[in-house]
Amino acid sequence: MTFVIPKRLRPWLDQGLNFFYPALCQICRKNRAGADESFICASCVSGKDGVHFLVPPYCDRCCFPFEGDISNKFECSNCREVELHFRYARSAVVTSPLLLDVIHRWKYNRALWFEPFLAELLIREAAPALREEKWDLIVPVPLHSKKEREREFNQAERLARHLSHATTISVNKDLLTRAEFTLTQTQLTREQRAENVRRAFTMKGGKKLNGEKIILLDDVLTTGATTNACAKVLREAGASEVCVWTVARARG
Ligand SMILES: [Zn+2]
Ligand SMILES: [Zn+2]
Repeated sequence: MTFVIPKRLRPWLDQGLNFFYPALCQICRKNRAGADESFICASCVSGKDGVHFLVPPYCDRCCFPFEGDISNKFECSNCREVELHFRYARSAVVTSPLLLDVIHRWKYNRALWFEPFLAELLIREAAPALREEKWDLIVPVPLHSKKEREREFNQAERLARHLSHATTISVNKDLLTRAEFTLTQTQLTREQRAENVRRAFTMKGGKKLNGEKIILLDDVLTTGATTNACAKVLREAGASEVCVWTVARARG
């Protein structure tokens, strides 16, 4: 796990972390797991509630995962109903109890030692896929500045920096701005969410684009309302194409 920290410093840092923190899995709190494993043991990763990479069949557009035996490309009924402004959305993994726990503690409890784990999942899946196409910029989904101040970091921006380091595609966090405070999305219906976020994003200072192909980045894709609203703004400002990458895809 050497994405941001220079290789030569990593053993020193790992030793430091292991000195200050016991090498104990922070999920099961039973097995051994050190800093180089982001304090998550192998059996938690491979368990039923652990890491599940997103594999077909899934909707070709929004990557909503399906069960069963579908071998041809298809779009889910939801994608056929709404106007989507991104070409496709992809995620590294499907949400699981482990992933939700890790993301929650990383975002809200500042469990920063989980960050390399999440970044590695994203890079493992996104970097090879993105290398096959030509993309110009990575744009993290912005937080409202009030939320960012409270939390002190934007999780999408941190993931964007890791992905940028692995792909050499640059990050621009100054294109989009979240114009109004939106309530916590989790308690709203799908329609309410879409309405809530529809007008929330704008180009910062009315910036214009010039045909750039943009990777929009976030931590979790749920309904896609947020990313679709961002993609719409970027397309209207002149982006030729937008795709979406997240670490995790919710099942609904
Ligand atoms: Zn464990
Ligand atoms: Zn879909």
